[in-house]
Amino acid sequence: DNELKALAEAIQNKSGPWNAEPLVPGAKSTGATVQVSNPADRRQNVGSYVTADSATVDKALANAVNAHHAWDRLPAASRAAILEHAAEQLEARRGEFIALCVREAGKSLPDAIAEIREAADFLRYYATMARRLFGHPEQLPGPTGESNQLFLSGRGVFVCISPWNFPLAIFLGQVSAALAAGNAVIAKPAEQTSLIGYVAVKLLHDAGVPADVLQYLPGDGATVGAALTRDPRVSGVAFTGSTETAWAINRALAARNAPIAALIAETGGQNAMIADSSALPEQIVKDVISSAFQSAGQRCSAARVLFVQEDIADKVNAMLAGAMAELKVGDPGQLSTDVGPVIDEDAKKILVDHAARMDKEAKKIGEVALDPATTGNGTFFAPRAYEIPGLATLTREIFGPVLHVIRWKADELPNVVDQINATGYGLTLGIHSRIDDTVEFIQSRARVGNCYVNRNQIGAVVGVQPFGGEGLSGTGPKAGGPHYLLRFAGERTLTIN
Ligand code: NAD
Repeated sequence: DNELKALAEAIQNKSGPWNAEPLVPGAKSTGATVQVSNPADRRQNVGSYVTADSATVDKALANAVNAHHAWDRLPAASRAAILEHAAEQLEARRGEFIALCVREAGKSLPDAIAEIREAADFLRYYATMARRLFGHPEQLPGPTGESNQLFLSGRGVFVCISPWNFPLAIFLGQVSAALAAGNAVIAKPAEQTSLIGYVAVKLLHDAGVPADVLQYLPGDGATVGAALTRDPRVSGVAFTGSTETAWAINRALAARNAPIAALIAETGGQNAMIADSSALPEQIVKDVISSAFQSAGQRCSAARVLFVQEDIADKVNAMLAGAMAELKVGDPGQLSTDVGPVIDEDAKKILVDHAARMDKEAKKIGEVALDPATTGNGTFFAPRAYEIPGLATLTREIFGPVLHVIRWKADELPNVVDQINATGYGLTLGIHSRIDDTVEFIQSRARVGNCYVNRNQIGAVVGVQPFGGEGLSGTGPKAGGPHYLLRFAGERTLTIN
């Protein structure tokens, strides 16, 4: 607690401004300058960044094509050592990164601390996997007198396009995997968190990644992102964001008259938690609250829907309303805050419109009160919960602190799982039950990437719980898992008589 308090005080003193521009050797962008403000208090300037113009995008691609081979030919252990050095530097400078996560992304202090830890874990994990997978060719069996070897190497130029909700962990996760596998990387951060991306790229440069091997291109998805993904020089894209953007990127890559690119897409979800009447209501409520409302509901893994068996539904709803009344919404830089702001006005508008519809069509279970004195100048949205008749009421992913509760009867369990599968998404699923057969039935029938039983439905520890979805939720392989690096690699078989 003392360390956390000291950190909180230190962060109050680190208020920027941070200023960023494209990091592309040999180019000076004349793109627009974008001012960045704090989601918790829009009057507070956090910094600014210059967007990449089209000449800068073109130069970055040309640089990357030239830089790829030398980086790929380095021993995997050398690339790994650079990434590990970056992890050490990240931890040594964590105050600055935490401050940026709080101020630019509106992260609460515990979330920001967890983000730094996860980012460092990704750097170290992919370094370890690079040594293991890329260090030596694999010797394959063959007839006497013939040697067969399988080599892994980088694919060429990898574009990494990341979201704002894990601006450091996902950003560095994608970038470090692509680098570990031997690719030249162009990193396109989310518009809302471009400053964090800039500081993260500088960190890797300082650790030893050459400036032309890792370049940074801030700007709009529809211009900078689209220009990158339609370019024939790109051999792979690692993307995390909405399913709709993944479709747009897939179309852009497919329309190129160029070698077929690898696409790794980690996308949205319509995540459910299923609770039966054998589960403990206290545990259900504790876990669904942290899953639905932590990070202001802006986690791809967050529970959006709680399916609760009708025998315990009234009790769970009442407890939910009581627990929500205890939540404190406010400045994410304060230790007492449970829920911070949502990322921007656009995100807030979608939530306000959704709540207006739910107010008419659904029964409200609870809503957290906002204090105008502490939330009046930021993009805050009061967490709330509604009871709805069925999953068909939700037509899109609601990316914020809104929970929907649906009751089910004992004989409806297959139908509950089928409703969830019918959304087409398959990211996370929570199960609360003390009956083994029920847990087995649900987890084997559901098509989801990450299933959590009798615990909260968030958290993906690198190397422990590889994370990623199925169907509309992503292509795999799972981030933080043993197969992730392989999608960033090309394979070559060498046969010698
Ligand atoms: P988004 O799709 O709006 O943007 C993501 C990135 O794509 C941004 O960098 C954006 O600039 C870029 N982009 C937008 N249009 C583009 C185009 N036409 N071509 C190339 N790039 C383009 O998503 P977001 O709002 O930043 O993030 C929230 C979404 O991300 C949610 O749907 C959430 O579920 C999902 N998400 C998924 C995971 C996962 O692991 N599955 C993790 C985090 C977030």
